[in-house]
Order: sequence, then C-alpha cells, then structure tokens
Amino acid sequence: MGIVIVGGGIIGCLTACRLRQQGADVTVVESGDIGREASWAGAGILCPIHPWLYPDCFSELVQHSLDLYPALQHQLLAQTGIDIEWQRSGLLIPFFGDESHWQPAQEWSQRFNWEVEPMDGAAARVIEPSLAPSVQRALLWPQVAQLRNPRLLKAVCKWMEQLGVEVRSHTKVRRLLVRDGEITGVELASDSEPAGENIGAQLGTQIDADQVLLAAGSWSDALLEPLGVALAIRPVKGQIILLATAPGTVRHIVKHDALYLVPRADGRVLVGATMEHVGFRDGNTVAEVHGLLDGLMCMFPGLTQCEIERQWMGFRPGSPDGMPFLGEIDGARGLFVASGHYRNGVALAPVTAECMAALMMGDPPEVEMAPFSPNRKINRSATLGYPSKSS
Ligand SMILES: Cc1cc2nc3c(=O)[nH]c(=O)nc-3n(C[C@H](O)[C@H](O)[C@H](O)COP(=O)(O)OP(=O)(O)OC[C@H]3O[C@@H](n4cnc5c(N)ncnc54)[C@H](O)[C@@H]3O)c2cc1C
Repeated sequence: MGIVIVGGGIIGCLTACRLRQQGADVTVVESGDIGREASWAGAGILCPIHPWLYPDCFSELVQHSLDLYPALQHQLLAQTGIDIEWQRSGLLIPFFGDESHWQPAQEWSQRFNWEVEPMDGAAARVIEPSLAPSVQRALLWPQVAQLRNPRLLKAVCKWMEQLGVEVRSHTKVRRLLVRDGEITGVELASDSEPAGENIGAQLGTQIDADQVLLAAGSWSDALLEPLGVALAIRPVKGQIILLATAPGTVRHIVKHDALYLVPRADGRVLVGATMEHVGFRDGNTVAEVHGLLDGLMCMFPGLTQCEIERQWMGFRPGSPDGMPFLGEIDGARGLFVASGHYRNGVALAPVTAECMAALMMGDPPEVEMAPFSPNRKINRSATLGYPSKSS
C-alpha cells in the first residue's frame, strides 16, 4: 500500500516527486496523457493577475512558491537535462487612461516588497517599442518570471520516472473508496484503458491506498460529490493564440485587463487568455479568438502582420473564491485534496507540492494552511472567484 494521486497535472506530478523524495510509495493515476490538460495549456506567468485583489495569505503563499522556482529549475535541469526556460522577463502593465489599478498595484508592491517602476508612456515605449502610442503610463515589475509549461511538464514527468513514481496514464479513477470515515483506495473505471496499455490496471480493479491525494483539476468535484463533499471547483475555459515573431519584438510579459502577451525566448508570443464559463466545451472559437486579436491590435498595433502559428485551450480549475483547496477532507481520514488553483496553478505548484508532501507525511508545512483548507467557509462574494468577469 502507499499513496495514490488522482490526476497527472503539474499539481499531482510535482507533489508525487516531493512525496517520493521523502520515501513514500507513490502511484499517479491519470485518465489521459500525463500533463496534457490545464497544466500544459497555461501561459506560464509566475505572478497572479491583479495580486492586490487577493487576501494577504494568498500573496504570502504565492511569494513562498515563487521563491522555490530558481532551485526547482536547477534541480530539473540537473536531473533531467530539460530547461524549463524559467526567466525573469518582467511584467509590464500599460494604462490607457484607465487608472483604477494604478494606486492599489503600487501599494501592494510596497507592502510585499516587490520592485515596481512607474513610468510614462514614452518611457514604456523605450523598453517595449511596439507598444501602442495611446499608452499613457505603465508599471513595470522587473522581477516577474515566466516558464514554458510543456517543458516543465516534460521535465517533471522524467523526474517522476527517475524517482520511481509509478505512473498509470490512460487510467481513469471512477470512485474514491471511503470506509468508516477513512480512505481505503480508488476504484478504476472499466472503460478507461486502450488495449495493450497499463497491464497492471485490470478492468474494474481498485488500487488500495493508505492515503489518496485528489489533484484532478477541473474534474475534482465529480469524485467528491458521491462523498457528499462539494468544493464547487468549476472549469473556466481559456483560449490562447501563438504568434511567430522575431525574438525581441515583445520583450516583457504585457498585461492589460483581459489580455496578456507572453514572449518566449525564441520569439514566439502567446496571446491569452479568455475566461469562459461554458462547462467542458472544448475547441477554439471564432468570437473568442477574434476578441483576443482585437485586444492585441489595440495594445500592439505593429503586430498585425505576424503569423498565427497555432491556438489551443484549457480548463482552469476555478474555485469560488479564487484560492486553491489544500488539505485533508473532514470525515475522510487520509483523503487529501490539492485542487482549484484556478489561474495560478503553475505559479503555486512548488509550494503546493512541498506543503502537501509535508502534510501527508505528518510534518508541519512551512506555510499556514488553514486559509486554504478544503473545509474552510468559502467567501462566495470574493472578487476573484470564478463567476467574476473582473478576474
Ligand atoms: C489558458 C490558461 C492559461 C493559464 N495561465 C496560467 C499562468 O500564466 N500562470 C499560472 O500559474 N497558471 C495558469 N493557468 C492555470 C494553471 O494552468 C492551472 O491552475 C494548473 O495547471 C492546474 O493544475 P492541475 O494539476 O490542478 O490541473 P490539470 O493540469 O488540469 O490536471 C488535472 C489532471 O487530472 C486528470 N483527471 C481528471 N479526472 C480524473 C480521473 N477521474 N481519473 C484520473 N485522472 C483524472 C486530468 O486528465 C488532468 O490531466 C492557466 C490555465 C489556462 C487554461
């Protein structure tokens, strides 16, 4: 027996690595390919959108997580040879005369000791030359970093393999097994395995476990509902367009309201991301792609001739108050959840993995976890929860 992790996104996989490093016997069960849902689709910005709108405990959790990234990057490179392209490209927020975030953003930065540089439009166009002439002022956070999600997932997958984590992909968990208030394992769906794969996971079988970590992203609630637990994690669809540009065309992560641009080292630029409440309806759609391109042309009119290389989408695991659920479920001893990371799952993955591994191994986590407990009282009027258009 050992630990079963349900869901092979960045949260499940990185936590598996940390648990394995501490000697636990860990199996990750993933219904599709490992790391191909939200964790693959995301933009890799390592900073919340509008962090000043969150409670302080969230900012502290984020800070702790971001501090872990440089060491994680080195560790992944050393262990796997894969460079996740973590880089401090800086984040620039242009203002077109819409001032509501100007003051709160600077106050938050001072309080949390984030370097911030206010500048006028001309100065912003010196550091970001393709920015629209209508930009009047801007705020620059030079320390904000980004990474490339597919590389992160590839590296973490390889690391899991090296550490000896058992991975069962194309294997769906149908049910969490709880008896007398205690988790006993998971039951696998009988139709989830293509012929010839996962010989160990026979049809309709179960995997016994001392502990289970539910890290199934947007799909987590479906497994909790039969236990009478409703965290109200909902999919929030995000579409992204990838542009091919010459390196240096866009130099910083640039973010304004619903739109952001993320320049990669090779010149590719991600343009994202929509916030859609359409359930699990997948695919890129004309209206939403049009909306992204419209915003792009306002902010960077010089990029209109760039080639669109591809587009994709993913489902963010939205939580009602915008914060993740991290901890053990009341009334089901040994059943833990790490889900609902919404727009910040990549930024929060290192601290989630460390804290969940500590909790599950019976050690005190380095961060106060009570505000993120799955048993907490949810503040449904929080501005950053999934029904909000402003997030
Ligand atoms: C367009 C977009 C942009 C984003 N940008 C950013 C960003 O810039 N920065 C940032 O920090 N975050 C960003 N995010 C959010 C971030 O990607 C997510 O918060 C994070 O990936 C969540 O990770 P996860 O492991 O919980 O979920 P997922 O990656 O979705 O993984 C959950 C896994 O569980 C599996 N699963 C589900 N049900 C079962 C079952 N019954 N049995 C077995 N397996 C199951 C799924 O197949 C899936 O692989 C973005 C997300 C999107 C979609």
